[in-house]
Amino acid sequence: MLIDRFGRRITNLRISITNRCNLSCYYCHREGYSSNDEMSVDEIKTIVSAFKKLGIKKVKITGGEPLMRRDVTDIISSMPRFDEISLTTNGINLSKIAAELKEAGLSRVNVSLDTLNEEKYRAITRGGKLDKVLDGISEAVSMGLTPVKVNMVVIDNFNVEEIDNMIDFVSRYKHNVILQLIEVVGNNDNHYDLSLIEKKIKKEAKEVKVRAMHRRRQYILDKAIVEFVNPIDNSEFCMACNRIRVTADGKIKPCLMRNDNLVNIRGLKGEDLINAIKKAVMLREPYWSGCK
Ligand code: SAM
Repeated sequence: MLIDRFGRRITNLRISITNRCNLSCYYCHREGYSSNDEMSVDEIKTIVSAFKKLGIKKVKITGGEPLMRRDVTDIISSMPRFDEISLTTNGINLSKIAAELKEAGLSRVNVSLDTLNEEKYRAITRGGKLDKVLDGISEAVSMGLTPVKVNMVVIDNFNVEEIDNMIDFVSRYKHNVILQLIEVVGNNDNHYDLSLIEKKIKKEAKEVKVRAMHRRRQYILDKAIVEFVNPIDNSEFCMACNRIRVTADGKIKPCLMRNDNLVNIRGLKGEDLINAIKKAVMLREPYWSGCK
C-alpha cells in the first residue's frame, strides 16, 4: 500500500504514453514536462504492474494524445487487471478505435470538448474538427466505454455561456455521459471562478455526491450529471489527492503543478522499481496547503 507523509493513500495512477498530439489547444499543460522519448509497451507494463503490487486500483492513460500511439490497444491489453482502466482523449480518432479499445480491456473514456461551436472548436484546438469528436463520443457510448466523461475546461470570455448547451448535449445520452467542468490551471488570463456556476447547479441538483478523488462534487440533475474539478487555491482538493503521475518518458511526477521533484523509474525492475516508487511517494506534498 502507498501512503504519503500526509496520510494520503495513493490508489490512482495517471500515466502518459506519449507527448505527441494531433491538436494544439493553446491553454494545454500537456500533463507537465516530458521528453519525446516514449516508453515501449513492455516498459509501460513493467511500471504499471509494479504500481498494481503497491495497491493501485485505477489507471488513467493520458498524453499528449494517447490515440496517437498505434500500439495503444497493446498497451491496454498488456496491463494487469484493475478496478478501472480509463483513457483521456481529444476524441479525434476515437470513433474508429472505440471497439478495439473496449476489446483490449478499457473500461471508459474521458473526451475533451470545450465548445459545441465549430468555429470556436477550430480556434481553440488550432484546426480540430468538431464532428469527429462528436462521432467519437457517440461511438464510445455505443461500445459501452461508459460513463463517458466530457472534459470541458471553462475559459473566461470564451465558453462560460456554453455550459447550459453542454448540459443539454450530455443529457441526450442520459447518464451515460457526464459533464466535467474543469477550472483552467496555469493560465491566469483565462481563469474563470467556477464557484459561480456551481452555486447555480447546486440549487437545481436532486442529489450531490462527493468523490474520494480530490473530494470532487458531482451534482445529479434531472437530465444530467455535472462534476466540478476546481483545484486552484483548494487545499481540500490537494488533501484528497489519491493520484500519482508517470510521464511519457518514465518519470514519476508527484504533482501536476511541480516539475522539480521528478523521479526517473525507467529501466528499473523488481525491488529497485518498488523502492523508487515508494521514495517518490514520500516526495508528495499538497500544492495548495492554505485553508479554503
Ligand atoms: N489529449 C488528451 C485530451 O485531450 O484529453 C489527453 C491529454 S490532456 C492534457 C488531458 C486533459 O487535461 C484534457 O481534458 C484537457 O482539457 C485538460 N487540460 C489541459 N490543459 C489544461 C489546463 N491548463 N487547465 C485545466 N485542464 C487542462
